[in-house]
Amino acid sequence: MKPAGFILLSLLAASLSAQRLPQTVIPSHYKIALDPRIADQTFSGEETIAVRVSAPAKEIVVNSLDLEISDAELVSGGRTQKAQVAHNQPDEMARLQVADSIPVGEAQIHLKFSGKLTQGLRGLYLSRTARRAYAVTQFEGTYARMMFPCFDEPGFKATFDLSVTAEKGDTAISNGRIVKDLPIAGNRHQITFSTSPKMSTYLVALAIGDWQCLSRTVDGVPIRVCAVPEKKEYGAFGLDVAAHSIQFYDKWYGIKYPFGKLDMVAIPDYEWGGMENTGSIFYRDSALLLDEKTTSVLRRREQATTIAHEIAHQWFGDLVTAAWWDDIWLNEGFATWMSMKPIEAWHPEWNLEDDAAAQAQRIIELDSLATARAIHGNPSTPSEIKEMFDGITYEKGAAVLRMLEAYVGPDVFRKGVNAYLAAHANGNATAADFWQAEAQASGKPIDKIMPTFVMQPGVPLLTFSNAFAVGSEKLQFTQRRFLISGGDQQGDSELWQIPVCVKTGSASANFCATLVQRTQPELITGRPAWTFVNTGAKGYFRVAYTPDTLKAIAAIAETGLTGPERIALVEDTWAMTRADRNTVGDFLDVSRQLRSEQNRHVVDLLASHLRYVGDSVVPMAEQQRFQSFLRAQFTPLVNDLGWSSRPNDTDEQKVLRANLLAILGDAGDPAAIATSRKLVERYIDEPESVDGTLIGSAFSVAAENGAADLYDQFMDALNDSESGDEYYHYLFAIAEFRQPELLERTIALLDQGKIRQQNYPRFFGALLSNPSARDLAWNYLKSHWEDLAQKVTSFGGAGAISALGSACSPEMRDEVKQFFASHRAPGAERAVKQSLERINSCIEFKSNQEQNMQAWLAQQK
Ligand SMILES: [Zn+2]
Repeated sequence: MKPAGFILLSLLAASLSAQRLPQTVIPSHYKIALDPRIADQTFSGEETIAVRVSAPAKEIVVNSLDLEISDAELVSGGRTQKAQVAHNQPDEMARLQVADSIPVGEAQIHLKFSGKLTQGLRGLYLSRTARRAYAVTQFEGTYARMMFPCFDEPGFKATFDLSVTAEKGDTAISNGRIVKDLPIAGNRHQITFSTSPKMSTYLVALAIGDWQCLSRTVDGVPIRVCAVPEKKEYGAFGLDVAAHSIQFYDKWYGIKYPFGKLDMVAIPDYEWGGMENTGSIFYRDSALLLDEKTTSVLRRREQATTIAHEIAHQWFGDLVTAAWWDDIWLNEGFATWMSMKPIEAWHPEWNLEDDAAAQAQRIIELDSLATARAIHGNPSTPSEIKEMFDGITYEKGAAVLRMLEAYVGPDVFRKGVNAYLAAHANGNATAADFWQAEAQASGKPIDKIMPTFVMQPGVPLLTFSNAFAVGSEKLQFTQRRFLISGGDQQGDSELWQIPVCVKTGSASANFCATLVQRTQPELITGRPAWTFVNTGAKGYFRVAYTPDTLKAIAAIAETGLTGPERIALVEDTWAMTRADRNTVGDFLDVSRQLRSEQNRHVVDLLASHLRYVGDSVVPMAEQQRFQSFLRAQFTPLVNDLGWSSRPNDTDEQKVLRANLLAILGDAGDPAAIATSRKLVERYIDEPESVDGTLIGSAFSVAAENGAADLYDQFMDALNDSESGDEYYHYLFAIAEFRQPELLERTIALLDQGKIRQQNYPRFFGALLSNPSARDLAWNYLKSHWEDLAQKVTSFGGAGAISALGSACSPEMRDEVKQFFASHRAPGAERAVKQSLERINSCIEFKSNQEQNMQAWLAQQK
């Protein structure tokens, strides 16, 4: 599964009692006949589950949620018994009770059941376009039990025979291929699918409607991209990505794609970005469909990695499945890490290694909060399981695997993965199984290193000093937990085993080591001119440099460090400033040293931190001067690049130009503002005439500087926008204006039912991050909390709740704190705490750095 294109924050809710099924009844096969009635919003079904009973019992317990079970029979030892059904709603279980004990051995469960198609984006639910409704599924983590009574835990793998009825003219897509399609009474037909591979219930999939597909065969595997008919043509890019990914994975995993066919379906309403149902991956439509003529470089990449992520799961997650949700981080971390590989091979010029480094830095930033959680959790209830799907699971998981691959080497790492998959194919496995396979393949103590990153929260901070003396030249490393605030009360209880590589001004002095002690000396050859800790930026740690060391590295950064290393350098420097270990002046000096930097990640990171500085510690009277510092920092890059796209631009240059337009527009640069306005007006007339990469920034800048006339144009265009891209440009632009009366009209769209539920988190995120809209959006959120709580806390509160953390005042902090003291944020309680921690950290940054800022500005006069 993959979230929809924005960073997640983590969370944790109150623990209920453990809700595990007994291990004495094990299913092996389900035969299910389903009769969904989209017009009536109901469905009914009949199923037979073949099970093996290992201890005599008078009851069998299955998962069932919001289903009516009208008839139940248990067959064992040649005898059929009627069963009483006792529903246990809070535990989402049904107990099937019989008079006489069921003996050890094979048995069958026969059930008839019915339920409602819901609007809630989970279970078997209704997904709508303007034209009609579709019945579709989303089951991970615990929602298969909303469509059929089942043993709804990942460890209970079984095969499935599914048949469904549909209206004439509709078709259905599921894990197997269609083997029979026969007309039945009532102008309907019954579709039967081939027996599925052995799989967990959360991977069962079904989508009913008038889907139309593009198709192709790759390595003998038929693949299709399916969508609502009016959007079918936008599936071509997704099909390319899938074809390329399958070919790549066939080789990389050393196991051919195991499930016979692959369908990918664009679902109109979908909570997630994508879901790796076995042989039948579902996506929100904006994550699978794309208009190649108008889309941006970044959206193309994000889409490519999302698709590659879901396909990676077909082996790692579907063929071999985590035994329980406590290891879901390995599943998701692995797919996140893995998704870069096929795309990197396909488009080396996209520099995805820079993306991976930036992603690692982003999660390190989150992991520097005192409220961060460990990767490994112990979820047992459905809501705890849902809460596991957060940034720590995906991005820290990926970052730690990236470090591990660098530590053992890519070929050895791949051998470990291959051995792990071969050993557990069609079964379940744990993270410990994975470490063992990697330890065996590499002969290195991976099973010692990994738990230190997986079982404890936070990120280590490495400090080092040169302890040069005749005959013993060494670097003295010290490790402690790094926290963004809290000054000297940094953690002393955690200890990591850290693979670290050091790059220096003299190649013969470079070395790698594993740091296992609080303080550990490492020998170094000679006295190199500079020392950069974290070669390739593969390590999961922060580094504190002294101001002098920092100057020496920044001076050689452009020629001596790679893109990922410069990304790490900027992020380490900024983190030390945030934590009050460096002054804001140190950061500004390093920024200035990096003025000729062309790597768009580095430029973007510098700009966002400089913006934070501008918003938090630059006094009103000095804003003009600070803005001219920003323009001096970034304008030279535009002088080279220009505002108009050129035929020979690389994708990286296109993105850099777009970033600069946003940065300089924000810094009040008249040329950037005028350019943005012009681009947006052209786009409204003819979207295809404007560079799809540049237009996103142009919308932001134009909206920030626009008034009612432009707003009205956006609103009109929003209503008749045709492609997904167009719609989202207008939707998010109308959240970026500055005038309260316009922002009120934007918020009113909620009451008019014009915002899809799947877009609530991002929509509120945009409003709450806009200082001019924050109060309005916050007040709306508070006064509609009953209705909104479930909708905006999806993905652990990413977007809506996490954006509250962009505030920086004690008043806002107290309000947020007070509100959530008496209101629950289901599944986003940790996100609330983290937003409060972020606000506090900003307040602290202000009080620590205001003087330093004044002093630095005074020096510039
Ligand atoms: Zn995933």
